[in-house]
Amino acid sequence: MYSILSSLGWFGFAAGLIYYFIRDRYGDPSLVQHYVWQTQWILLVSGSLIVIAYVSRFMSKKTGIGTQTGRCAKCRKRIDRGETYCFDHRREAIWQAQEKHRLDGSGKFNRSQKRT
Ligand SMILES: [Zn+2]
Repeated sequence: MYSILSSLGWFGFAAGLIYYFIRDRYGDPSLVQHYVWQTQWILLVSGSLIVIAYVSRFMSKKTGIGTQTGRCAKCRKRIDRGETYCFDHRREAIWQAQEKHRLDGSGKFNRSQKRT
């Protein structure tokens, strides 16, 4: 997400400069104020995009929000923060827990094992 923002910013920055050079070369000299203002606006917007991208990336590294993700306890696949397993292994873990609960509980299988 941050790389998209920063590349968008750099692209806008480059586009703004190209725009300025084209207008400077071929544009109407009487419109100088106009395109200088436009270029400044483009550079301002793309510049702030870059700043936002870098600041938020820096902040997320500092605080651990955004970039830091957890890993599945079984396959080490990247998962959301706070999760223990990936989607597949979470399902597997739930299924296993249900099975365990079923076998430990008052199921038929358990009762016959206890021989009560
Ligand atoms: Zn997994």
